[in-house]
Amino acid sequence: MEKQVEPYHPEYAANRVKSLLERLEEELQQALMRWFTEFLDDLIGVKKIAKDEPLPGFILARLNDQVWWKTWSEKLAEILTSNILSAMRAGSHSAGRQLAMNLSWDYIQPAAVEWARQNAGKLVTGILPDIQTGISQIVTAGLSEGKTIYQIRDEIAGLRNDAEQTVFPDWRAARIARTEVIRAHAQGAKLGYEESGVVRGMRWLDGQTGACPKCKELHNKTIRLGEKFYIDPKFGDGLPPRHPHCRCAVAPVTLDQVKYLPTDHPLRNNRRNSIEEITDIQAYTEIGGVRVTGERLRHAKFGHPESTSQSLQELINRIEGSIQKPGKFNDVRHYIQDKSGKWWVIVVSPGEGSPFMVTFHRVHKPPKK
Ligand SMILES: [Zn+2]
Repeated sequence: MEKQVEPYHPEYAANRVKSLLERLEEELQQALMRWFTEFLDDLIGVKKIAKDEPLPGFILARLNDQVWWKTWSEKLAEILTSNILSAMRAGSHSAGRQLAMNLSWDYIQPAAVEWARQNAGKLVTGILPDIQTGISQIVTAGLSEGKTIYQIRDEIAGLRNDAEQTVFPDWRAARIARTEVIRAHAQGAKLGYEESGVVRGMRWLDGQTGACPKCKELHNKTIRLGEKFYIDPKFGDGLPPRHPHCRCAVAPVTLDQVKYLPTDHPLRNNRRNSIEEITDIQAYTEIGGVRVTGERLRHAKFGHPESTSQSLQELINRIEGSIQKPGKFNDVRHYIQDKSGKWWVIVVSPGEGSPFMVTFHRVHKPPKK
């Protein structure tokens, strides 16, 4: 199953991102192999990239040089991050097409950058130790066979043009590229759904010929936004891909579509469990036993890039502080200034159909006390 490369789900072509993703896969694979060649060039001293060290034992010295490894792991992380971000942007584009909405990348980007960096970091942690081990084995075996450091260097140099090499093989770069582009696209789509404020859940799209049994099983499964389609300790984060080389897709389940689901369908439940989960106008959150509807909270979370995450956190803290004391307030207003000097007011007040409404507005300046 691992070796099976699924065809792209037709949804990718329908959202007009298929050729872009194919190109990104290709570019990432090539960039990874280019990184590996440059890494080897630097290790054997053909090109002095990270460090100039002309002593005969320099390969051994570099293998033990933490700063040197850090330089190369940062280069690798950079390549991965930028490619992941491009695929995430394609994902948010897909979300926009699926919802027939214009989603602004400016609002999505901060969360995307954070996710891309984290995921790239995880990937580097998976890739680098294997390369480190592979090279060390060549050196150790060479030394025990009585080879000179120059012979060992030539052996390492030979990896650059060896299609059969196993230290960082081409097929591994291809697998990483295919898997990570689909993964990043799904994450970008999810961020787009959250940004939209009209999406309650996600549907898995597969059921095509060439899909593996695990993927077929997930076809048409719906989950709430933020939940996982599957839990597999060995692979994935609950979204596509289900396995390496998987090319399943996701589609949004909008608030409008939720109305047509059976009354006992889990997506009909309006309850949310944390303040971060409030992204649609029908949802509510229970904190300290009090329901809070979040009509405009999502604006603070996604809609206003000038409102820094620090000031947002302050806003949320204030709401949480207020609703910890139910009954103690009536139409409470908090004024807060963001980093750019703009003022906001949050209003926590009794709402229709649920105890409290939380709304956000931009204000010119707070009233004098
Ligand atoms: Zn699949």
